[in-house]
Amino acid sequence: MVRIAQERVRDLFGLAEREALGGHPDLSDRYVHLARQVGARYNVRLLPEQRELYCRGCSAYWIEGRTVRTRLRSGRRVRTCLRCGRERRIRIRAPRKSPSRIADGAPAETVREQETEVAILDSADESESLEEESEQE
Ligand SMILES: [Zn+2]
Repeated sequence: MVRIAQERVRDLFGLAEREALGGHPDLSDRYVHLARQVGARYNVRLLPEQRELYCRGCSAYWIEGRTVRTRLRSGRRVRTCLRCGRERRIRIRAPRKSPSRIADGAPAETVREQETEVAILDSADESESLEEESEQE
């Protein structure tokens, strides 16, 4: 039963991602909500990488720059949900070389450029790229 629940949670997060990219954020939020319900019902913990993907206040599926804003504030990475305003503070740990988390969804070239420039804080890369975007508009 537990394994089925885990698979179901994973599937729901997959669907949430697809709908988010496909322009249906409402559906994404719904899938996140369902995934959390399945997790709670069957006492299955969500994976750490899954738990970074949504807001704990309103279950919004987080997409950088659209439903969540990431800023660095006094040594912490502060992620603000743009739907309900809830903040989540994450202490920044020792630098990690592996760019696997940054690489998600980002074009490989930009990642490599940023990597040589700022190898320590991946969220710094994110806020930089956000500012570039707003300048272009
Ligand atoms: Zn929220």
